[in-house]
Amino acid sequence: MKNKEVTIEKHSGEEEKSPKIIVRCVGHEFFYPISDILRLFTGEIPRQEEICVVCDAGAMASSIDPSSSDLILVSSISEDRVETYTEKGAPGEDPWRIFIDKEDMFLPPNREVKRQLYFLLSRLSGRAFPWGSLTGIRPTQVARELTSEEEMTNIYDVRKDKAHLAFLTRDREDLVLSGTDKDSLHVYIGIPFCPSRCAYCSFVAQEAPRKTALLPQYVDAVLSEMDMVLPRIEGKIETLYIGGGTPTVLSEALFEKFIKGVFSHKEFSALKEICVEAGRPDTITEKKLQVLLDAGVKRICINPQTLCDRTLARVGRKHTAEDFEAAFEMARKMGFSIINTDLIAGLPGETTEEFCDSLTRIIKLSPENITVHSLSKKRRASLSREEIVKQEKEELERIEKMLSFASENLLSSGYNPYYMYKQKDTLGGHENVGYSKDGTECVYNVAMMSDQRSVLSFGAGGMSKRVFFGSDDALHVRVERCPCIKDPIQYIAKVDEMTEKKIRFFS
Ligand code: SF4
Repeated sequence: MKNKEVTIEKHSGEEEKSPKIIVRCVGHEFFYPISDILRLFTGEIPRQEEICVVCDAGAMASSIDPSSSDLILVSSISEDRVETYTEKGAPGEDPWRIFIDKEDMFLPPNREVKRQLYFLLSRLSGRAFPWGSLTGIRPTQVARELTSEEEMTNIYDVRKDKAHLAFLTRDREDLVLSGTDKDSLHVYIGIPFCPSRCAYCSFVAQEAPRKTALLPQYVDAVLSEMDMVLPRIEGKIETLYIGGGTPTVLSEALFEKFIKGVFSHKEFSALKEICVEAGRPDTITEKKLQVLLDAGVKRICINPQTLCDRTLARVGRKHTAEDFEAAFEMARKMGFSIINTDLIAGLPGETTEEFCDSLTRIIKLSPENITVHSLSKKRRASLSREEIVKQEKEELERIEKMLSFASENLLSSGYNPYYMYKQKDTLGGHENVGYSKDGTECVYNVAMMSDQRSVLSFGAGGMSKRVFFGSDDALHVRVERCPCIKDPIQYIAKVDEMTEKKIRFFS
């Protein structure tokens, strides 16, 4: 085993070895599931070293026996048993152990390994997470494999309210999917530019004001990709989603050229749904909205993320809550019948009260869809281990309060959860949930996030995917993905190559 020496600086300037958690894999190589669980408990990024997964102990440090420098665990699959136990560094003399005989095992081995490690670390640390050992990004997919919420709680240690949310969302997702052909295609077009970059942005979006010369070239490249690919793809296109970035960041003239170019394709003549992200209110003008209406678009997203002006300024969004309200009112008056608004729980420095106030004001505006995202990045900056654990705990509780408030108030205001996904880089793995009034669900969002329908993407950073079904239509068998270059300059230079790759992928 090759362990690198990791050191942390103490406040006194004295250096000490940082404790680690080492999970030795015996009889299997399920390094990714093990990494996911270590990341959940420690907040650190694990690394694979030969037959081990190694991680700084981070938030788990206080659970390690002070007389031992590291916590060493064994995750083993033998002929008749799957077990996880502590080898060194756990409090007490006896090993801490969880096992199941193979004849009693009901999960596939990779999930059993993950589940055991979760339960063992949960016992050692005294911590539990809302989604238990479900670190994957699609809890509704797991709900599809189970018969009850209780099962989800018992098997994966998912908290009861989260299991309930997963099943409610699963049922809505299935309802939406039942209105689509399982062999249908759903198209995404990405404009990865924004007026400024938000402090929390994890997308490929670039600042448009710095790239003005690039924007017309980028639009031409996307349109040429569509010209070449669309006539050569089989499959009925049911929905179209134009996202980003912020597509409405384009100048009025370029936006009009782009939208007219998109809708010149006969493949888009019988769409069931078109949605355009006009995400940042400061990019919306009457002229751009009219261009969309003229093209038959009635569904847009206007996303304030918060209605607290102090937070908006803090995260680098160059608009106010008033700008959002004015854009919303203009879109409504002009005839957009379905408007989605996004909010984020956990924006830097935002209090629970500020988030709840934003949500209450948004509900009063009565948009058809409200999507609640969560953001809880870890913060370090020379804190002691105890301070890190305390800070993470407070952060998790803060986000939990926001999400619970959102869920309760949206459900009681006539909104239902209709799609859900989780992000791996958030503390505690909180969920993002799209809520809608009955009959206004965005089919594209469900198709994309449920991994139950194929998606054809155009533009830099887009991910195309094909879903292949087995005999049981309710559960897909296999998803293949085809990513596109993320950098817009590279994308423009290599658009022909991307085009050929996509045609091959869908043939
Ligand atoms: S609006 Fe969205 S895509 Fe654009 S910078 Fe902000 S977070 Fe990133």
